[in-house]
Amino acid sequence: MAAPSETDMLTKLDIATPGDGEMVRIADDLLWFRFRLPFRLNHINLFALDTDDGWMLVDCGINSDEIGAQWDAILPQLQTQKPVAGIIVTHHHADHIGYAGQLADRTGATIHIGQVEHDMARWALAQSEDSFAAIAASTYANFGLPQALVARTTKVGNYYRKLVGDFPEAEIITTDSLFHTIAGRWKVRFDAGHAPGHLGLYDPDRRLYIAVDFLLGRISPNISVSLRDPDGDVLAHYYDYLAGLDDMGEDWQIICGHDWHYFNGAQRATQLITHHDRRLDRLRAADAPQTTADAMDSLFKMKLTDHEVFFASCEARAHLNHLVTRGEMTRTMEDGVAVFHNS
Ligand SMILES: [Zn+2]
Repeated sequence: MAAPSETDMLTKLDIATPGDGEMVRIADDLLWFRFRLPFRLNHINLFALDTDDGWMLVDCGINSDEIGAQWDAILPQLQTQKPVAGIIVTHHHADHIGYAGQLADRTGATIHIGQVEHDMARWALAQSEDSFAAIAASTYANFGLPQALVARTTKVGNYYRKLVGDFPEAEIITTDSLFHTIAGRWKVRFDAGHAPGHLGLYDPDRRLYIAVDFLLGRISPNISVSLRDPDGDVLAHYYDYLAGLDDMGEDWQIICGHDWHYFNGAQRATQLITHHDRRLDRLRAADAPQTTADAMDSLFKMKLTDHEVFFASCEARAHLNHLVTRGEMTRTMEDGVAVFHNS
């Protein structure tokens, strides 16, 4: 989580946060609503774009009865005006994609998603309880996490499928896709870092950017290796993304998948670069070789649930891997555990 000093200069959009069952207008063609989630990050922001064909929903929530009940409150308000024309899924994380299948069933609308995130979701959903658990357990062992946690992970089975429902045929969005609304034209971009092919929507004429999870205002987006690829350098992709936001200055409105929305993506990008630089500094400062579990302990001081250990350990590893890419650390394997040494 970013230190307050990194965020206190951001100018929030002057829009009241929607309460349960409420929708709030952000732009002429963009409605915002918020659903509660059973995690430390206890809510998600969802959106509806107003098009001539109907509403294009943006993201879905996890697959749960509680999320279904929250859609019960929102869908009729939308559908008395016009039908749901489509469901855009920005990325494969469970809080964004989990309820997509049920939402498609309930509305008859087609799901739209980028290829990379589509394939990530399909892969995770296709894993048996055993194979998913085996991958998670072997990566956790590689991280040097406690045996008891590795054993618990094995018992959980396919954790992704507990939060994500069946995912039907979807239409693949590309960067050539354009979403015409009653008020503008939203272009598509795909970025890697928080997820490998995360979809953002932006309208350059109106200086609006639906950044979802890539440029959150309050917390730093989780930058994590995937359990399948613990040696990947995803932080390099995220730094590239942040370095490319210079043009989204103070006249841009940044619309986020969690917390509040704000002006000036370039400013936030600078803050997030500093945030990750500091994390790298903290890992560089270790005076002994460190495992991923050690790095997690030094970056995340709070007590973590198993769900949170997943994010925290994968994020710690992403930072270690990036130091290897930069030539500042080397990685050795000791009894199946990756150990990182300052070069
Ligand atoms: Zn996400």
